[in-house]
Amino acid sequence: MPVNGLGQYDDGNVFARILRGEIPCKRVYEDEFALAFHDIAPQAPLHVLVIPKTRYVSLADFSTGASEAEIAGFWRAVTTVAKQLELETPGYRVLTNMGPNSGQEVPHFHVHIFGGKPLGHMLVRT
Ligand code: 5GP
Repeated sequence: MPVNGLGQYDDGNVFARILRGEIPCKRVYEDEFALAFHDIAPQAPLHVLVIPKTRYVSLADFSTGASEAEIAGFWRAVTTVAKQLELETPGYRVLTNMGPNSGQEVPHFHVHIFGGKPLGHMLVRT
């Protein structure tokens, strides 16, 4: 059982379907560990999702279950994507939602990259 409240990995989730090519995406980067594509409902001028190619429901699940090579390859891909999008100099934000309180919608581990304007101080509202 994955290490959070999300249950077993569901091969029908939308990112699994994107990985299988069943749903189109606006791809910006791909390597053996990761696929990056534009979010369908962007919340910043640039809003890209980076997902591992392996089946993990969340950050906790990925961190526990993935190999060292998968973890290193995935996080290197995140920074490579940001660099490719020319976000390194102006800066960007990386965010992952993990489990129910975060509002995680898609149960395939993913990282959001936000950029393209000053993003303000964090995203959390109380
Ligand atoms: P979460 O809330 O799980 O961290 O974020 C899921 C993200 O996936 C949301 O920002 C949502 O807009 C995006 N998303 C959901 N379905 C699709 C889709 O079919 N294609 C793309 N490109 N993004 C999607």
